Amino acid sequence: MAPPIGQKQWTSVSHRMQFWGRPSSFDTVSWGYEGRNYLVTRPEDGSPARHWPVRCPVCSTPLNYTVHSVAATRRRRSHRWIGMVVSFAIGLGGFSIPFIISGGDVRFIIMFIIVGLGIGAGFLFLQFAAHDAGFAGHGASWPSATKHKVILAESDSRPGSPSAFGTGLDVPPS
Ligand SMILES: [Zn+2]
Repeated sequence: MAPPIGQKQWTSVSHRMQFWGRPSSFDTVSWGYEGRNYLVTRPEDGSPARHWPVRCPVCSTPLNYTVHSVAATRRRRSHRWIGMVVSFAIGLGGFSIPFIISGGDVRFIIMFIIVGLGIGAGFLFLQFAAHDAGFAGHGASWPSATKHKVILAESDSRPGSPSAFGTGLDVPPS
């Protein structure tokens, strides 16, 4: 479980060490990441997001993240939860298409498209909501194995240790 959103936030900036993911168990793929933790102070609630320039601790690429306040991060998450609920509702509502419009096989094609898009979008929103830590930029809040990853950390303990960074990112099947 990710650490709670706080004003002062230990944050790990890490670099993906492989191009291809390795199968880690029968249904997941993981990438190894290495990096270090930083203590980041979020802007006050109601203040605009601030820029946080940092160099990748592995490859020294300059990275520039946008850091949102605690309230803004909660808002971003709740918008995505709402997006998830609406998308799933549209997807499930699609099953009623064959009953409310007349016609031949076309109505079933329309049903499959709406159900597929709605449920697909719902899972995307779910992933975005779960991954959003209020950091934006360089794919930070994207639910994928980006080259540079920003995730919340428990503390500054064990910087660089395999248990802190080596477990990588597990991508469940979608
Ligand atoms: Zn890097």
